[in-house]
Amino acid sequence: MLWFVFTTPVCNLNCRYCGGTIPEEVMPHEIRYTVEELRDFLKKDPERDIAFYGGEPLLKTEFIEKVMEEIPARHYFLQTNGILLHLLRPSILKRMDTILISLDGDERLTDLHRGRGVYRSALKNAELIRKKASRGI
Ligand code: SF4
Repeated sequence: MLWFVFTTPVCNLNCRYCGGTIPEEVMPHEIRYTVEELRDFLKKDPERDIAFYGGEPLLKTEFIEKVMEEIPARHYFLQTNGILLHLLRPSILKRMDTILISLDGDERLTDLHRGRGVYRSALKNAELIRKKASRGI
């Protein structure tokens, strides 16, 4: 089964059609369980896949890395706006099966909805992680 792990409802962007960070009263901003508790819960599913989601999930990079170190899964996925992708360590990047980077189209359209410079930043980081994952730097 595919399990979505919301690492945070906080986002570092405020896209026009989304509104950005989900308010604290709707979803807690801090994770209220431990990785060990999550591991015990997910043990029930030996065929688990894990997708990291947000908000912007990479605002909790340490949590993502700890989950991947402590909880084996068939596949790991990440859905991100790409701005913080440079924070992931090569050893973790190599174990990600799929990284989905959200863009709205070309540079003009993406920056119109997401903010100035977002398109270039996301693409720059996409190129960077490709190099990091292949070279292990
Ligand atoms: S990056 Fe995603 S979560 Fe963040 S504001 Fe934009 S659409 Fe919403």
